[in-house]
Amino acid sequence: MGLDFKDKVVVVTGGAQGIGRKISEDFLERGAFLSILDVKEELLNQVREISKEKIDVYRCDVSNYGEVEEVFDKIIDKKGKIDILVNNAGITRDSLLLRLKEEDWDKVIAVNLKSVYNCSKAVLKYMLKQREGKIVNISSIIGLWGNPGQTNYSASKAAIIGFTKSLAREVGPRGINVNAVAPGYIETAMTERLPQEIKNKMLSQISLGRFGKPRDVSAAVLFLASGLADYITGKVVVVDGGLL
Ligand code: NAP
Repeated sequence: MGLDFKDKVVVVTGGAQGIGRKISEDFLERGAFLSILDVKEELLNQVREISKEKIDVYRCDVSNYGEVEEVFDKIIDKKGKIDILVNNAGITRDSLLLRLKEEDWDKVIAVNLKSVYNCSKAVLKYMLKQREGKIVNISSIIGLWGNPGQTNYSASKAAIIGFTKSLAREVGPRGINVNAVAPGYIETAMTERLPQEIKNKMLSQISLGRFGKPRDVSAAVLFLASGLADYITGKVVVVDGGLL
């Protein structure tokens, strides 16, 4: 047993860049077949170039149930099974609540939270028959602690934790594990656009004295998706460098 994913079929949402891309590369390195769902065709084509035999890419808006169901059916037609689902796609539309537009509330809830319902429901159809499977949801420390200007994002990420705990109870007896990872501040496009002043303040609160890298999150995801974590379900692993 170990971090060996030989011949496992893994679905990663939002896998064309950032944390999702690193998760996909790390699974690939350990023998998995990847199905990557994302919205930008160009980025998806770049990822596919890494390995045409072992990576399939699908342009799919994961907040749309119809699109998700269609893609999962295609993956099953091609691969015959899905072993692991990583619900990673996520966005921010930050603003203080009084200025937060309804469309930005709706969009963040749809992409970050409804997508988790959509993809989990679509994959469970198959995992329940297989009587095994692993689902890993990417939450955030903002879902645990809150943050001014991020009520929409925080609500979506906190809800993912409730979803994870409830679904773990529902499907545990059928051999399916459902866990969440809550990253702290990780260096990706999502955090790159933050003002330097805010970045400095954040850095001063991190015990390990550095921002996280996508590989730090990926390590926790691969562990939870592996046989090493067969007896762990309904839990949240925080990857934040010891945020104070
Ligand atoms: P990222 O670099 O922006 O990557 C997210 C990917 O998801 C992007 O390729 C994005 O495409 C895609 N996506 C957006 N909407 C989608 C949709 N409707 N359907 C399918 N794919 C969609 O972000 P990241 O920093 O890697 O974040 C990955 C996850 O980690 C997110 O859930 C995020 O909330 C979480 N997280 C990140 C941090 C951090 O510090 N970076 C901390 C805690 C949690 P577009 O670029 O076109 O939007």
